[in-house]
Amino acid sequence: MTQLIYDLDLPSLTNLLKEWNEPTYRAKQVWQGLYQHLYNAPEQFTNLPKSLREKLTEYTAFTPFKVKVFQDSSDGFTRKTLFELPDKNLIEAVLMRYGDPADNPQITASAPNSKNLRGAKNRRTLCISTQAGCAMGCVFCATGQMGFKRHLSSGEIVAQVMYYAQMLKDVNEVVTNIVFMGMGEPFHNYDNTMSAIDRLSDADGYNFGARRFTISTVGLVPQIRRFADEKRQVNLAISLHAADDNERLAIMPVNKRYKIAEVIDACRYYVDHTGRRVTFEWALINGVNDSPEVARRLASRLKGLMCHVNAIPLNPTTGYSGKATDHQRAIAFKESLEQAGIPCTIRMRRGIDIQAGCGQLAG
Ligand code: SAH
Ligand code: SF4
Repeated sequence: MTQLIYDLDLPSLTNLLKEWNEPTYRAKQVWQGLYQHLYNAPEQFTNLPKSLREKLTEYTAFTPFKVKVFQDSSDGFTRKTLFELPDKNLIEAVLMRYGDPADNPQITASAPNSKNLRGAKNRRTLCISTQAGCAMGCVFCATGQMGFKRHLSSGEIVAQVMYYAQMLKDVNEVVTNIVFMGMGEPFHNYDNTMSAIDRLSDADGYNFGARRFTISTVGLVPQIRRFADEKRQVNLAISLHAADDNERLAIMPVNKRYKIAEVIDACRYYVDHTGRRVTFEWALINGVNDSPEVARRLASRLKGLMCHVNAIPLNPTTGYSGKATDHQRAIAFKESLEQAGIPCTIRMRRGIDIQAGCGQLAG
């Protein structure tokens, strides 16, 4: 059995090397090779003795998957990679590049906010998976339509980041943002997701700042509260998509378990405990949840909460007949929310031609 090297935190790596009778400082060298130099094969660790490199080759694996295929979107800024795990499960990770201010994906009703535009310059956002499939069954989501296969290990999550980080390094670029918005529900795989974040944010390693991660959840209430208690500086996004329990239940089975009011209460708890704003995600479905009336109901639920609504026109999937909103309805929705005091951004869809948009990942 080989051990996926990205599954090890520094103490475990240190123990492994101790078993091989290596001095402690070697573990740090391996760690820095992996996460600072982004080496992806034992032979690149030229600072290590040959015997140790051979052990690494024999007993550890540097990648948990094979790249099945990658596709670049015609928008020129989105790349989707399909990975095959040893048990044949498929997962996907998407890189979105935001280069020139002109490529900024935000549509604004009023004048574009120049600060936003600057912030977006040279952003390299990576969207990664936490599970193969998903158990939550949201009807509009391709991952939900395929059902749950299994949780990913922390190392399988980390490895998706390392894959792209290594690729970008070759062109002198770096990942700037990581969003847990690929396949799976991160809070259903809570421990492995948090271990992956811890590993990636280690100051002696990859050193990826907590504030540049965003976790998106379907709204698992106990986990939102636990996350708040841990006071992590990671951004939190909640997939809401409806302002009424029956309407939400019709598209998101999770609403049977946790009602909208409970989810929003947990969000208030999160904001109170972390001082951080929460984002609500909203896939605009024509005639379903994109009217000004729905926007007003949503605004009254969110009143007084430090939050922001991120709306995106629904991406098409084979298993759901709902249609995307149109530009005018989207703007009207945004304006109704903002008139009621709730900030809203409408994001442009990305990578639709390669099924790399939100909710289109199904291996
Ligand atoms: N399971 C998590 C994260 C993965 S889904 C969650 O649900 O939040 C990432 C985002 O894509 C979520 O906001 C989800 O609601 C949204 N999404 C799913 N299917 C979509 C679709 N067809 N069009 C637009 N957004 C979609
Ligand atoms: Fe799972 Fe998120 Fe898709 Fe819902 S939207 S099925 S929670 S991946």
